[in-house]
Amino acid sequence: MGLLSLGTPLDWHESKKYNEHVRDNGITQLINIFKQHHRRNHDEFLWGDEVEYMLVDLDDQHQTAKLAIDKDYILHDLNDEAKALPKAQAENVSFHPEYGRYMLEGTPLRPYNGNKLDDYVYVEENMAKRRQLSREELPNNIKPLTLTSYPRMGCPNFTSPPAKAIGPASQSLFLPDEIINRHARFPTLTANIRKRKGHKVAINLPMYPDKNTKLLDDSIPTNRQLFKSDKEPFLGASKPGYVYMDSMGFGMGSSCLQITMQCSNIDEARYLYDSLIPIAPIMLSLTGAAPIFKGYLVNQDVRWNVICGAVDDRTFIEKQEEPYKEHHLFGGLDIDCCHDLDINKHGVNEYGDLHNLYTKDGKPIQQVPKSRYDSVDNYLGDGNYDTNYFKTEFNDLNPPINKKVYERLVNEKSGQFDKQLATHFAHLFIRDPLVIFSERIDQDNNLSNDHFENIQSTNWQTIRFKPPALYEATPEEEEGSGGAVDFTRRPGWRVEFRPMEIQITDFENAAFSTFTSLLSKAILKFKPNFYIPLSKVELNMKLAHHLDSTINEKFWFKSLDSWGLNYHDFIGYDFSWFDRYLSEGNDLLVNGNVYLNGYNSSTSLAGADEEGQLQSNGTSGTNGINGINGSAAPKKSSAPTRGCVGKTIEEINDVDDNGLDQRYSVNEIINGNGKFPGFIRLVIKLIATELVPKDSQHCQDSRCASKFIRLKHYLMLISKRSSGEIPTAAHWIRDQVLNDANYQHDSKVSDLINYKIIRQVVKLTDLEDKDLVLEFFGETIGEYLLSDSRK
Ligand code: ADP
Ligand code: MG
Ligand code: MG
Ligand code: MG
Ligand code: MG
Ligand code: MG
Repeated sequence: MGLLSLGTPLDWHESKKYNEHVRDNGITQLINIFKQHHRRNHDEFLWGDEVEYMLVDLDDQHQTAKLAIDKDYILHDLNDEAKALPKAQAENVSFHPEYGRYMLEGTPLRPYNGNKLDDYVYVEENMAKRRQLSREELPNNIKPLTLTSYPRMGCPNFTSPPAKAIGPASQSLFLPDEIINRHARFPTLTANIRKRKGHKVAINLPMYPDKNTKLLDDSIPTNRQLFKSDKEPFLGASKPGYVYMDSMGFGMGSSCLQITMQCSNIDEARYLYDSLIPIAPIMLSLTGAAPIFKGYLVNQDVRWNVICGAVDDRTFIEKQEEPYKEHHLFGGLDIDCCHDLDINKHGVNEYGDLHNLYTKDGKPIQQVPKSRYDSVDNYLGDGNYDTNYFKTEFNDLNPPINKKVYERLVNEKSGQFDKQLATHFAHLFIRDPLVIFSERIDQDNNLSNDHFENIQSTNWQTIRFKPPALYEATPEEEEGSGGAVDFTRRPGWRVEFRPMEIQITDFENAAFSTFTSLLSKAILKFKPNFYIPLSKVELNMKLAHHLDSTINEKFWFKSLDSWGLNYHDFIGYDFSWFDRYLSEGNDLLVNGNVYLNGYNSSTSLAGADEEGQLQSNGTSGTNGINGINGSAAPKKSSAPTRGCVGKTIEEINDVDDNGLDQRYSVNEIINGNGKFPGFIRLVIKLIATELVPKDSQHCQDSRCASKFIRLKHYLMLISKRSSGEIPTAAHWIRDQVLNDANYQHDSKVSDLINYKIIRQVVKLTDLEDKDLVLEFFGETIGEYLLSDSRK
């Protein structure tokens, strides 16, 4: 998203009159996009990441850390021609607004080239530049940090300067409206979700049960009488034993890491989109970084169900839930019939016949099982691609669709929408627009795709299928830009990978970005079959929330021997490949360290035996975390929030009836198990066969060597997190609390502990504390990072 244009956003009660107008014209725009672009082919594999920062005011004297909500001028400065913009452009970085006033999003200005080895290593440099540039525009005490959830968000005095939770946009009991981006779009979005829904969002996270934990959220004000909604927690919104959150900011105010990749054509994009769907929960688990919410340790590791709940605009009737006392089943929807409906008679168990209920604009009211922020509901199908693995039974969720949209698309004269494509868009278009700008109601559908994007970009799925923009909607570059933004203005068919949590350091974020992009390229090259029924992906999403799910859980995945790949084709493409590639020829000088035969003589890289092999025992699940304090946490937990990954899993067999899907540890899926390749071998073979300089069998100089060594360490990070040898960020953050002398074993994260966590996070970000770096990254990666001049 670029900088936001100015305009007048409509309040829900005004905007809902245009819902069908936006949908109708949005679909016309989609059809126009397809007419223009369906035959587009041979686009390059370009890609880019998005990193979201939180600005934290760190006060070492008073030992406090707070979210800075008065530094949002930085976005303007960074985009100001007279200030930092020329520098940002010269450094190829770009900054965008985010939901929180304390947030900032940074991306490369021009996407990276996925066919260039250099670009996979350059990512980290680009990320470092973003952090550096934003630091230069901020006072010293304000730190741009990459934290997934801010530990004390929603606790008394968590902002700098202080602000009161009394705002009309969110009506939150915990979050002031001053945390919301000043641009009118964001408070309107917040308010409109609440108004459509007819009550506030309600997110309930299980508390981490420690020995002194009172299973009671005692932070809920009992006597506020500012808004009618103040009573909601006592009418059923909050659940005993759970941490209760009531506002969009708890989810949209968290940070994540997203990767967008361009495919050569639509068919390739559909296959890649589908292939990444089962991978999403695996990567969510591996990147888990959110064990604390609203000052409580919670009994889960990731943000996902929080953000699902935070923008869940469904009414009681759509969720099939009994309304709170004095609340309306239909929320802010205008119902066109059945005014005399006795809502008491239509409680949760009885209203199976929604089919005769319509909104005023003629849209049927239907049951909507999931939030608009959630995992993917439909595979797109790869029937037009040379793989052709998709079977209709993999789409086993039967999500609701907008029948009118579906009929329109499948009957489109051009015939470009097959059943799967039409179902995908018809599902996205069950949603209402959340924010409409009065200036943008009437659009020329040949020139604009705003109405389409309005619905598309407020369906926040684990994977997003991004069609090209209409040529006319992307005007020629502004004068003087030197054509620098041409790539982003003429994008092709893209796939966005969105489940990952943001990591603390640039090194980790670069590692996960590079891994995602390389794995995607490997998928397109080796064409594995990863299709499993979507219902199993849903179960995996739930598993990914569990404490230390990476090492404790087994995830459904395509049976490794049903990938359609031959293991023998991947033998040798483990970490030893790097060593061989680096070892021939002269000794290499890398960052002042001599690499004799490819092994660093002064660091633990010399322990190549240990590194040269991928883990070969497939049956982890019992793998402990070595070298760090294990938290005394109970294993499995359930995360019953409303509609967001909220199913309970009971007694799941490890092998499916059809034998095609099995449950595997993350270790097996990533590292292979001695019989099957695993993702890392796919990636290493891709590097070896596609990305090494064509004219050489090994590195000729130290610059080349240092790139491969970097890449190797990116993959080692992923490998070691998967095997449990080094902790996830969530595990490490939880341990910061559990091992703090001030911690009372009551699951509460005090102001002081919050400060200490942030202090450690700042040190880690800068890789400045040797012991900390070794603890967090383990010895091999830690030593490498400490010896590397780029830190
Ligand atoms: P959004 O917020 O809608 O996901 P952003 O513009 O913030 O989109 O980020 C999209 C990412 O895609 C950025 O990293 C950007 O560099 C990258 N990108 C831009 N153009 C292309 C392209 N043609 N192909 C692939 N990636 C692209
Ligand atoms: Mg963005
Ligand atoms: Mg965005
Ligand atoms: Mg963002
Ligand atoms: Mg994005
Ligand atoms: Mg969906």
